Amino acid sequence: MITYLRFTTIALFLLVLSAAASDIDNSYYTTEVIIKTKSETKHASLMACPVYDNKNIAFSMRWDDCNKNNFKMQDLMFKYGISGTFYMNGRNYDFRKACEKGTDIGSHSMTHPRLTNFNNNQIFWEVAEIKPYLESRTDKPVNSYCFSYGNYSDKANKTVGYDIAEMLQRIGYHHNAYLGFIMKYTKGKDSVSGYRQISPGDRNPSMAKFEKELNKLLNNQYWKKDNPNISIGVHVWMKTPDAWKNMEGILKKYSKRQDWWYCTQTDYAAYRKMFKLVKISNISKKANQVEYKIILPYASDVGSNQPLTLCYSGNAIEVLVNGKQVKFKSESGKTFFDIIPPSFAEVPKLISYETNPQNNPTPNIRKKTALQPWLYIKDNGYLVLSMKNSSPGKLTNIKVKYIIPLMYKHKKAAIISEMPPGANKIITENLVLNNRNSDKYGTPFLLCQVDYLNNGTPERAYASTYGKKIPQPGK
Ligand SMILES: [Zn+2]
Repeated sequence: MITYLRFTTIALFLLVLSAAASDIDNSYYTTEVIIKTKSETKHASLMACPVYDNKNIAFSMRWDDCNKNNFKMQDLMFKYGISGTFYMNGRNYDFRKACEKGTDIGSHSMTHPRLTNFNNNQIFWEVAEIKPYLESRTDKPVNSYCFSYGNYSDKANKTVGYDIAEMLQRIGYHHNAYLGFIMKYTKGKDSVSGYRQISPGDRNPSMAKFEKELNKLLNNQYWKKDNPNISIGVHVWMKTPDAWKNMEGILKKYSKRQDWWYCTQTDYAAYRKMFKLVKISNISKKANQVEYKIILPYASDVGSNQPLTLCYSGNAIEVLVNGKQVKFKSESGKTFFDIIPPSFAEVPKLISYETNPQNNPTPNIRKKTALQPWLYIKDNGYLVLSMKNSSPGKLTNIKVKYIIPLMYKHKKAAIISEMPPGANKIITENLVLNNRNSDKYGTPFLLCQVDYLNNGTPERAYASTYGKKIPQPGK
């Protein structure tokens, strides 16, 4: 079974490479679907729905910064069944609590700077280290990014926006809070999703302001094609009971809509990435039965265990997914059902992070995950990843993803089939320099993300290190 899956993974990896440049590091799994019908299947088709559960739009919230009032907002959202994402910095905060009651978190930089004031190595550290920082504190993947001060471009530096887009892609963010950024800088990185933002006001939310913007969107739906997601934001800065009452009024009035999917940005991002990358092929058509093969990226690569909804163009009497009957919904002559990720492709249940700020070759690690990685740079040109399996069981499906700054050429993910109990493994990769001068200044930050199965359960272990600082002339 595992051998078959691995073969599929590698074959599809190559297949998708040319289609979507941003998805070179994904692994894929295959699901078989059989649909039984009473009617003729000759002209039948199967497609993914643009929004989960065949809803009309996604509806979400986005709140920025490590602000303790976020929890008051979380309670209010929970009361009305509304989900959303808090965008967090590298500070002390109850990140786990922010991932309860239907909300989760995304990245908002390590120190909340204006990114474009920095050189590319500094920018990379700000956007890259926050991912393992947050994930290891919550044991939950982060897949979306929100710029502090909304700053991602600079009139005096025409390339910085494109550079940031390239960095976010290497790190694995495929959702962004700024639609302007997505439209201008992420062309070719086609699985970046976003949303239409409505701010009823940070300090004194106004129903009238909210509804004016909402109705403008709902009455003119051309925007839905790219990102059928409307979100409220941006800061929980309400101080008076009246301000909170106004916000509650909006949440109450716009909760429980039958045709809206109330979701976090993370789940929306995962859904839309699957929607764009899913490959559906028809295997056979008989008189009353049709069979399909569905190829989807791992949940650990899209960032959530979010199911994908498929729509069959006729009435089904039975739907089988990998030989098992599943629930389905019939609506106006069509059939809807979900594909949920199998356990081996789920998001990690444990996430660890070990950093090596002194670039020490000798591992010094705490024990949280079964696999313990350690990263260092040797002779200024080789990246050395040493991994130890400290668990009593064998680790399988080990995928090493290199997350390195733009001064080096991107390195493709590597796959290792297994590591027995107690095994050590060392991988040495040469770092190939890019030839752009603007990329080399500052201190490079290098990160490895290792995803694997520990006795069938997905885990993730990160390790990072720093290269030599190259001072920037005149700074
Ligand atoms: Zn902020």
